[in-house]
Amino acid sequence: RRTPLIAGNWKMNLDHLQAVAFVQKLHWTLKDAKHEDGSVEVAVFPPFTDLRTVQTLLDADKIPFALGAQDVSAHDSGAYTGEVSGAFLAKLDARYVIIGHSERRQYHAETDEVVASKVKAAIKHGLVPVICVGETLEQREESGPTAVSVGQLEVALEGVAADADIVVAYEPVWAIGTGQVASPEQAQEVCAALREVIAAKLGADAAARTRVLYGGSVKSANIASFMREPDVDGALVGGASLVVDEFAAIIRYQK
Ligand code: 13P
Repeated sequence: RRTPLIAGNWKMNLDHLQAVAFVQKLHWTLKDAKHEDGSVEVAVFPPFTDLRTVQTLLDADKIPFALGAQDVSAHDSGAYTGEVSGAFLAKLDARYVIIGHSERRQYHAETDEVVASKVKAAIKHGLVPVICVGETLEQREESGPTAVSVGQLEVALEGVAADADIVVAYEPVWAIGTGQVASPEQAQEVCAALREVIAAKLGADAAARTRVLYGGSVKSANIASFMREPDVDGALVGGASLVVDEFAAIIRYQK
């Protein structure tokens, strides 16, 4: 009932020329794959400087990938040097925006409150926030598997309307770029807890409709095991989303 979402977070990789070659090759590799019939949604999240080029390519070649950005300003416009408004992203046909990725929380000191204000800004401008939460290894040992993610999501959803279109991504920090993937059971446990937060904050309808993704060392070899879990509705893929054959194989996963 929830359309699976396979999302490629390129992080700070691929300039706009490399992006064109990559997206074209991925599209050709996926010819006749199931994303063509809408049974899986594919989204790519290039750096800001690539968005216009990728938008033009997707449009010109009728490539059925959704476009997303990796961050957004909490502000609409004005004297915020270096920031990018959600209004600008919407004008580029971006549908999604990643908010609160652990790399932004860690290297750019984004607090839960900053994340919450960016979520509101995204929704205001018609973007779907992909809200990232997840614990470090120390936090898991200290407070268990779900407490940190649940707390982060509770703050992020403060003031969000029940009918808002959102995506949530559980990305344990210890699994990001480490090859130390969470087990499907670990992912399921936290994703189920996050769905309960959505139910408590936004209601049962929102909980039933909202996609909760797993991210952290997802590869073609492990994607199916995650997709078998009832509360995992897709994946947020980093490193493996930069390799055409790997990302195509993830999109073609069979349960
Ligand atoms: P990796 O897939 O490289 O572990 O990265 C996950 C991630 O951070 C996606 O946002």
